[in-house]
Amino acid sequence: MTPPLHLTPLAVFRAASLALIAGLGAATALAQEETSPRVEYSIAIHGGAGVIAPGDEEMERQYREALEEALEIGRAILEDGGTALDAVEQAVIRMEDDPLFNAGRGSVFTNAGTNELDASIMDGRDRDAGAVAGVRTVKNPISLARLVMTETRHVLLAADGADRFAEEMEVEQVEPEYFYVERRWQQLQRARERDEITGATEDEDTSTVGAAALDRHGNLAAATSTGGLTNKRFGRVGDSPIPGAGTWADNATCAVSGTGRGEIFIRHTVASRVGALMEYRGLSIQEAMDEVVFEVMPEGTGGVIGVSADGEIGWAYNGRGMYRGGADSTGRFEIAIWEE
Ligand code: ASP
Repeated sequence: MTPPLHLTPLAVFRAASLALIAGLGAATALAQEETSPRVEYSIAIHGGAGVIAPGDEEMERQYREALEEALEIGRAILEDGGTALDAVEQAVIRMEDDPLFNAGRGSVFTNAGTNELDASIMDGRDRDAGAVAGVRTVKNPISLARLVMTETRHVLLAADGADRFAEEMEVEQVEPEYFYVERRWQQLQRARERDEITGATEDEDTSTVGAAALDRHGNLAAATSTGGLTNKRFGRVGDSPIPGAGTWADNATCAVSGTGRGEIFIRHTVASRVGALMEYRGLSIQEAMDEVVFEVMPEGTGGVIGVSADGEIGWAYNGRGMYRGGADSTGRFEIAIWEE
């Protein structure tokens, strides 16, 4: 005997929805199209996974303002039909020039009391990439990285060779004092006292920067720039200048920029792993990032931001927070630091 049928309100709702979908499939699709317009361009940025503690209102205001400006610079380029490469480069330059961020001007110090900057940029059209590691005289390492991509037959130039290349390319070079920021110097003193190499995981805010974008032409690009970790051995190279580790862009899947413990990103090829999960397992960018950040990377080691080939913005981090922002052609414009 068939048991009596008890229909809960939820079951009734589900049945009604199914009937509606079956009967009015075309109309539903049309309505959805009307409510969620196609994303024509999008951009995500980050200002690092090591963040200030909640409560410091003045610092919070400064960070939000800087992130907003960087995001708007990239968004405006995309809005005007500019390239993803230009958008990510210019957004990163805004943050490199700001002493708040651990990139360019506000770079952290090595154990030798020097500043050694790493950066990379990647073009999703053909996975072309350019990077510099351990540069000490370059105001905007991200622009030098782009020149490595376009003006040499190499991907990565390091140390003196990279600084010399900067001279040849006539990109702006600066004296070591340019990178002296008192707050960063004090972070080095604290790290030395505790014999620690501090970065995105500790109580210090060390805010590496990055951006990922999709332009109106359907092309993706990503860029990352950093001073690395406070009290790192001089000569140490992190993930930021390594395509596949800290930066990734491939028109087939996504553009990604990472921040956190560089050694973890290198060992787990974090940025390209997000793309691989999308390509081989059919995950969305958010699903792929969640899997990499929460299941592959150890807790408290960093995060990623990115955009997919269809313009979806994704981000995930496994520490206290991550300075981040996202904007797209539908009018979305959002800045966040912690879970909010
Ligand atoms: N990933 C950078 C590095 O290890 C640091 C950071 O993101 O804060 O060099």
